[in-house]
Amino acid sequence: MRWLACTIRLSPESIDLASYYLFELGAQGIQELEGHIIAYFSDMDEKDLQTGIEAVFHDLRSAGMPVFEESILIEAVPQEDWHAGWRKYFKPILIDDILCVRPPWEKVKKRIEHHVIIEPKQAFGTGNHATTRLMLEAIAGKHHVLPTSVLDLGTGSGILAIAHCKLKPTSQIIGVDIDPIAIENAVENAELNGVAEGIKWITGTFDDVPDQSFPMIYANLQRHIIIPLLPQFKARLQPDGTILFSGILVTEEVSMRVALDENGFSVIRQKQLEEWILLEVRHS
Ligand code: SAM
Repeated sequence: MRWLACTIRLSPESIDLASYYLFELGAQGIQELEGHIIAYFSDMDEKDLQTGIEAVFHDLRSAGMPVFEESILIEAVPQEDWHAGWRKYFKPILIDDILCVRPPWEKVKKRIEHHVIIEPKQAFGTGNHATTRLMLEAIAGKHHVLPTSVLDLGTGSGILAIAHCKLKPTSQIIGVDIDPIAIENAVENAELNGVAEGIKWITGTFDDVPDQSFPMIYANLQRHIIIPLLPQFKARLQPDGTILFSGILVTEEVSMRVALDENGFSVIRQKQLEEWILLEVRHS
């Protein structure tokens, strides 16, 4: 595997949002240093990375964040540095002592009932980002009452769909992502975890999902992606169903709640981790 380290100078207030966009772009880990961050990418073409970073800058500018254009530095990480140092970023993550998310090379001594093994590649979702962690905690917190049918919209590495299958083995999940590379990664991860039979993967979005409704929908997506899709979320959620929305910044809470209200949803629970919130919603 070839690794690229991308160093970007950023203002402190834009670090959280920039990290999120960089994870979406395929960063496998992000190191925050004073005044800049280093994002690590595996097996990515340097030109594609440069174009992706420019898109991140565009999104940051649209969100009103200052951007220092001249500040990108992309360097190859020597293989020996990767072996020596890189793996340390992927540590096992324990969720409520019932779920452990870990890369294949990490073992845990503590006895944990369910393990989700994620091979860090380009897809978002190693469990290290607060938005994923909020989702995993919410799913694990419901492990006694999880339904057997779920839609995971924006599945990334497949982490949430796989965690659900581990906690509720008889489930039939649909995992959807517009990014074919994410679906490729999700398929591999499902096989690695022995849950391939329980998940149908779709490259696409709502329109590509078979015509059915769900008792539970997972959506770790940004607010600007969620809001235009709210009528479709509404149509796809069963009458007493639940949606877990993550990927929303604390500063976006009010506008998100207004949009949910206008679309006939009630927020029944909210949880915050770092600068991010998770909203659990139902039909009003
Ligand atoms: N579910 C994983 C997690 O919780 O870590 C990954 C979440 S990641 C933040 C969001 C994913 O949604 C990305 O993989 C992106 O490609 C995908 N995505 C963005 N817009 C989408 C859309 N309209 N329909 C389906 N997937 C979408």
